[in-house]
Amino acid sequence: MAIERTFSILKPDATRRNLTGAVNAKIEKAGLRIVAQKRVHMTRGQAETFYSVHSARPFFGELVDSMISGPVVVQVLEGENAIKTYRDVMGATNPANADAGTIRKEYAVSVGENTVHGSDAPETAAIEIAQWFAGNEIVG
Ligand code: ADP
Ligand code: MG
Repeated sequence: MAIERTFSILKPDATRRNLTGAVNAKIEKAGLRIVAQKRVHMTRGQAETFYSVHSARPFFGELVDSMISGPVVVQVLEGENAIKTYRDVMGATNPANADAGTIRKEYAVSVGENTVHGSDAPETAAIEIAQWFAGNEIVG
């Protein structure tokens, strides 16, 4: 299996509750390496660009408001099969459907405030990483 990179966000509900370390422990325990990380407060424009694929969805406004409601931690994670590995550790979008032991099962507040983002495919991972990190900020 090839080494892959994925893009992660610890959302405002995570930073608000001081869960950065707890979520990072789950990430590292799953064998993923945090090869880039920074704390930022997204602008509305940055959040709208990031989630533009969802712009027609009824929850888009609520999603953008939530993403700019406090600081986030943006990350690049590296490891074997990183995209799927991280999706598995995150758990289902709706925490009510998430498996035991997943980040969302343990920490998510609701389907909207669900603690983490992770890329869903190699193409989106590359686009998302490029929105937030320069190449020399990623140190594997
Ligand atoms: P995921 O984050 O698991 O990839 P999606 O890409 O489908 O999920 O949705 C992006 C984000 O939009 C979710 O993580 C969640 O914060 C929000 N969201 C998705 N569905 C809903 C919903 N029905 N109501 C409110 N917010 C939602
Ligand atoms: Mg998604």
